[in-house]
Amino acid sequence: MRRTAIYRDPLFQEHKTGAGHPESPQRLEAIYRELERPELTAKLLFPDFSAASLEDIRRNHSARMIQEVAATAGKAAAYLDADTRTSARSYEAALLAAGALIDGINRLLAGRIDNGFALVRPPGHHAEQDRSMGFCLFNSLAVAARWAIKVRGLKRICVLDWDLHHGNGTQKSFYGSDKVLFCSFHQYPHYPGSGALGECGEGRGLGYTINVPLAGGQGDAAYAGLINDIFLPVARSFQPELILVSVGFDIALGDPLGAMRVSPAGLAYMTRALVGLAEQVCGGKLLLTLEGGYGLEAGHQGSLAVLSELYGAALDPAFPVYLGISQASALAAAPAPAELFQEVRRQQQPWWQL
Ligand SMILES: [Zn+2]
Repeated sequence: MRRTAIYRDPLFQEHKTGAGHPESPQRLEAIYRELERPELTAKLLFPDFSAASLEDIRRNHSARMIQEVAATAGKAAAYLDADTRTSARSYEAALLAAGALIDGINRLLAGRIDNGFALVRPPGHHAEQDRSMGFCLFNSLAVAARWAIKVRGLKRICVLDWDLHHGNGTQKSFYGSDKVLFCSFHQYPHYPGSGALGECGEGRGLGYTINVPLAGGQGDAAYAGLINDIFLPVARSFQPELILVSVGFDIALGDPLGAMRVSPAGLAYMTRALVGLAEQVCGGKLLLTLEGGYGLEAGHQGSLAVLSELYGAALDPAFPVYLGISQASALAAAPAPAELFQEVRRQQQPWWQL
């Protein structure tokens, strides 16, 4: 079985967003409780980690914006935009979330873990270089990718963002870079409004941003097709040294903010495909981080499905096995939505063989 690291900390539940806010501490409660069970603690790794430094955060965010977030510390409530509310310890939690991803990459590069999942809050993928937005304070994944490039000298990092919403912050951070290949599948049109098919990067980064805007209602087969027909061929050709994933459980059936219909089996399938890709191209180096997902039970079941696949076996005999072999082959054969696939192929033709 694989050495799968979990990043968790009670501080992530101290980021309080107020009654009725969908991005609530309760999102982590069930999975954190589950992770206390001896059957799971015996199998998974729980590394110690520390907060990202201001130097780390500054690689991706402006001094003005960092100051704005830091100024919320100690205040019971403040708003960074209409949806993005903070509490007294939100700033600390945001620094720790970014630190979790840096630590995960560090351990992957040192060969001390095989893969990992950062079960952190606040999420990060909407945070742009100069502004917090969409429930996100700092862009943890972008901060960590910049750390890997600057401090560890990585030249090719692949980012898949499967959250329901477009990862505008991550896209903008690397829009002009050929070192980070950013691929996002998202409901469109939807918040935050970006992520059209024609957004493909600029300058040296042209061809290194791939957006797949989707109508609502897509389920397991469509997502399996997107992974198999679009993400895997591009990523194999790019040959990344590391794969980072923005995980959103808001693509799950019944999510209060989304209209997708992905099941835990679909999430397991997607994770399995990414584990296989990582083993093929970069010695298995795969790190996932939690972004959105607002149905509490879907987040709990989705986390278990993803973790089982990262680990390589059921974590507990009591958990359902999400994916039998026959179901896996059925999903593998499912095409991406045909018309959309043709459009993506046309759009990406200058850079990628799809
Ligand atoms: Zn989302």
